[in-house]
Amino acid sequence: MYDNKKMFILGMARSGYEVAKVLAKHNCDIVITDMKEQDEEKVKELKELGVNLIITDKPADLLDDSFSYVVKNPGIKLDHPVCLKANDLNIPIINELEVAYHYLPKNVKIVGITGSNGKTTTTTLTYNILKEAGLPVHLGGNIGYPMCSLLDSVKENDILVLEVSGHQMHDFKDFKIDIGVLTNLTQVHLDHFGTYENYIKNKVKIFNHHTSNDIAILNGNNIDVLNNTKDIKSKKIYFSASKECDACIKNDAIYYKEEIIKLNEIKLKGNHNYENIMCAVIVAKQFNVSNEIIKKVLSSFGGVEHRLEYVRTLNTREFYNDSKATNVVSTIIALDSFNKPTYLLLGGLDRGHSFDDLLPHMKNVKAVVCYGQTKDRILDFCNKNNITCYKKDNLEESIKKAYELSVDNSVILLSPACASWDQYAKFEDRGDEFKKVVNSLK
Ligand code: ADP
Repeated sequence: MYDNKKMFILGMARSGYEVAKVLAKHNCDIVITDMKEQDEEKVKELKELGVNLIITDKPADLLDDSFSYVVKNPGIKLDHPVCLKANDLNIPIINELEVAYHYLPKNVKIVGITGSNGKTTTTTLTYNILKEAGLPVHLGGNIGYPMCSLLDSVKENDILVLEVSGHQMHDFKDFKIDIGVLTNLTQVHLDHFGTYENYIKNKVKIFNHHTSNDIAILNGNNIDVLNNTKDIKSKKIYFSASKECDACIKNDAIYYKEEIIKLNEIKLKGNHNYENIMCAVIVAKQFNVSNEIIKKVLSSFGGVEHRLEYVRTLNTREFYNDSKATNVVSTIIALDSFNKPTYLLLGGLDRGHSFDDLLPHMKNVKAVVCYGQTKDRILDFCNKNNITCYKKDNLEESIKKAYELSVDNSVILLSPACASWDQYAKFEDRGDEFKKVVNSLK
C-alpha cells in the first residue's frame, strides 16, 4: 500500500524513527522533520537507509503536493501548520500504527485497549495473562513499543495487545482492532481535542469497521460509554464492579460466566483495578485461557510502576508514588484507596483544570503540599476549603515538608492531579525523582 511512495514524517521521537525504518525497507522516498537535534546513532542509521532527516522549526515549508502521505507523530497538535497544509493539499494524514497495520502478516489478531483511565494497567495485565498461557502474543502501542518496532517479530496468527490512545486513533483510516476494550470515559485531554464530544468521537474509533464477528468490551456503568456505543455493530460484552453485568463482582469474586477468582486472592486493590481485571479476563476467555493461569497472574501482579506504587515505609509512614495520576479523576481514585491520615503532594502543569472535585474525597487528608505551575491555584483551592496547605518550589522540598508534618501510621502520597511537563520531560521522571528522594530520607 505504501511501497515506493513519497512520505513526509512529522516528528522523529521513537515512533517516527521506527516508521521511517519500515517505510525505507519498502522503498519509500522519505523526509522526516523534527525541531530538535536527534541521537547521533539514529541519525546515522536513518541516513544509511536513505532517509532525509531535516531539523527545522518550519517543517510546513518542506511539504508540497509531491508527497503521498503525511505520517504524523500522535502527540503533535491537530492544528500544526503541516497538518493544515496537508489538508489544503489533500494529502492524507496517517500515523505509525496505520502504516504498521498494512504490513502485518496474515490473521494477526489485534486486541486494542483504550479509555480515559486504566489503559496501561489493563494492557499489561492482558498481555501477562496471554503470555503466561503460552500464546504467541506481543505487547505494543502507546505503552512504549511502537507497532512498527514489532513488525520484524510478528508472525501469521500471532496476537497483538496494544494500548491505543485517542491521539493515535485520530488518524486511523483502515486500522481495525478485532477485540476492542473501552475502560471508561471521563473528561481528560480536552486540550488536544477541544471538546469532550470530539474526545469521545475519537475514543469510539477503537470499534471502527466492526461487524458482529468483532468484540467490544464496554464499561456497563459509564453513561458516556453506553450512550456512545449504541450504534456499533460489534458483539458487546459489559463489565462493572458496581452493578451486575456480563463480568462483575459476585460473592466477593470476579465473575464472568463462572467464578474466576476470589477478590482476596488478587494482589491489585480497588474497584477501578477490579474493572481493569475484568477487561483482561474477558479478553483472556476469548482465547480460552484457564482460570488457573488467570489466578497465577492475578495473585502476583502488583501493578505498573508509577501507578499507586508502594515505595517504602519509614517510621510507620507509607510512601506511594502515583506520578501517573495526571488528572483529578486519577487522584480521586488514589485518595479513595486509603483509610489513613494522608499527606497529599499536588501540582504540575497548569491546564486550567479545577481541583474542586477532589474535595469530597479529602476527608483523610491532613495537609496538602503543592508545587509546580499550579501551586498558587492549589493553595487558593485549599484556603477556600479550610485545608492545611504549604506551597513549595519543587517536589523534593514538598516531600520533606510532608514528612516533617506527618503523624505515625500515615500515608504520604504523590498523586499530583497534573501533568508533569512544567518541570519534567515525562511523568516517569517525576515518579523516579519521588522514589529517589523518598529512599534517601533518614
Ligand atoms: P492510563 O494508561 O489510562 O493512563 P493507568 O493504568 O496507567 O491508566 O492508570 C493511571 C491511573 O488511573 C492509576 O494510577 C489510577 O489512579 C487510575 N485508574 C486506573 N485504572 C482505572 C480505571 N479502570 N478507572 C478509573 N481510574 C483508573
